[in-house]
Amino acid sequence: MTKVFKDIISVMDPPAYHWVGDGFRVHNFFPSQSQIGLQGMSPFFLMDYGAKWNVTPSEKQRGVGVHPHRGIETVTLAYHGRVAHHDSSGHSGVIGEGDVQWMTAGGGVLHKEYHEKEFSRQGGLFQMVQLWVNLPAKDKMTPARYQAIENETMGKFIDSENKCSADIIAGEYKGIRGPAMTFSPVNLFNVRLLKDGTADFSFPSSWNTGILIIEGEVKLNDSKKVTENQFVYFGHKGDSLKIEAATNSIILVMSGEPLNEPIVPHGPFVMNTKQEIQAAYEDYYNGKFGHLDD
Ligand code: MN
Repeated sequence: MTKVFKDIISVMDPPAYHWVGDGFRVHNFFPSQSQIGLQGMSPFFLMDYGAKWNVTPSEKQRGVGVHPHRGIETVTLAYHGRVAHHDSSGHSGVIGEGDVQWMTAGGGVLHKEYHEKEFSRQGGLFQMVQLWVNLPAKDKMTPARYQAIENETMGKFIDSENKCSADIIAGEYKGIRGPAMTFSPVNLFNVRLLKDGTADFSFPSSWNTGILIIEGEVKLNDSKKVTENQFVYFGHKGDSLKIEAATNSIILVMSGEPLNEPIVPHGPFVMNTKQEIQAAYEDYYNGKFGHLDD
């Protein structure tokens, strides 16, 4: 069977940043950018990218205070710096460099996210990604769940030339599975390429697919040059991707089967109808999301 390269719809520069709380300086690639919108990367609903920046030392741990979520999973990846987290179902942890936290908000959770204490004190380079993975309608109200996915527990692929290594967080690559439990089919990998290294991927043409260049410069599908901090959004014309590193590079690769359900987002809630959004606010104001101290 001949492989057909996925068509490249858009190579996107990071949009202007905004602050989430006082700790996260992020560029939102979706849903705010019209090329992608609410449905274009489904089941991924949101991607906030904290491109590299220097955090000045602070005794106060900067971040975002207690807030609710419903209807989604928040997936936080740390590349530089460390993020700490507490939630109302009693889970807490630190996301270290190379680690991922996969939090299922489901029917409702309160959490807070902030710079880890020692990192905050020392300051330094910070780079992270937060994805919101939408839940299928039937799983929106599932109980909250927390998966701390430390780097060493990820699926590990290394090619025969030692020029490509992949951390498989969710889904499967070259027969190696990632540890994350998901509610719909999702692939999420961190791929490291040494200069001149090559990686190839095959995802169904109907799946929504994108890559974020975390570091370096690559050539895509034998044609397109893409550099650090750009996001590439693919169309549905082919099934394969080829990434060739012009310099040592790190690439976040994501692909998933679209949910094909209505999406009604409001603030921290992502539901299927307006009524469900209203119910989310009512439940939140009535204390049904539990309790978490500031
Ligand atoms: Mn949050």
